[in-house]
Amino acid sequence: MGMTRKHCTDVFLCLCFTVFLLLISVSSSSSPQGQMETAASRSLEHDNGVHCSRERSRAAWKIIDEYLMPFVEKERYKISSRCRLHPENDLYRDQEQHKMHVDINEWRCGYCKKTFYEEKYLDKHFDNRHYDLLNVSHSRCLADVCGALHCDLVMDSAPHKTRCNPAAIGRNKHLCESLADSCFPVSEGPSALHLNEFFLRQFCDAHTCSGGRKPFSKGGKRETSTLHVVISVLVLMLLALFYIFMYLYRRGNKKGLPRA
Ligand SMILES: [Zn+2]
Repeated sequence: MGMTRKHCTDVFLCLCFTVFLLLISVSSSSSPQGQMETAASRSLEHDNGVHCSRERSRAAWKIIDEYLMPFVEKERYKISSRCRLHPENDLYRDQEQHKMHVDINEWRCGYCKKTFYEEKYLDKHFDNRHYDLLNVSHSRCLADVCGALHCDLVMDSAPHKTRCNPAAIGRNKHLCESLADSCFPVSEGPSALHLNEFFLRQFCDAHTCSGGRKPFSKGGKRETSTLHVVISVLVLMLLALFYIFMYLYRRGNKKGLPRA
């Protein structure tokens, strides 16, 4: 036998180390963010004179950030503030940006540094203490475009499959197409034209009762990047393992030869 007992132990240790690394990479990629969000998204109804759902606005923002912005940035296009998807037109954007998720059970208010156990309590705190920071002078409710952007798909409270309502679908499609035209006016040049087309494929085509077409068909940022990272880490690890194994095997063979 070429491999002595010591080399077998070496290989075994390498394997253990690889498994350990794999476990670390898996645990770090499945962050607790998702769980916290599901708990918090069932936030309570509150009436402070603002009739705009924070939860749905957040869902809309998530979709814009994940399925639209990467493509807008790629085209180096600047969305105008006349477009309802512009950050300025999200009533809650400033507050959301002042949310600090310090630890799993620690959410901090960026204005007054108070901390909370759950995101929903921070939301309530914003509603109660920092209400004056919401500029409600003109309609800037991002939740209003939820129908066009398929918000229900990213919210955990997604309704059960109901029969398709052609009138509602028609309204959403119309809203979707008007967003495409106001945010990416085709007269503005090739990149606007590009993005207009993209927007229709990514968001508007799925507004149909015939099914078949899925929203976000062009993909998004996080999905692809996470998958990419996981796959490259796995490949690198396997490669390293292979080389280590080969090295040990050859060394074992060389040392073992005279004895054999
Ligand atoms: Zn505060």
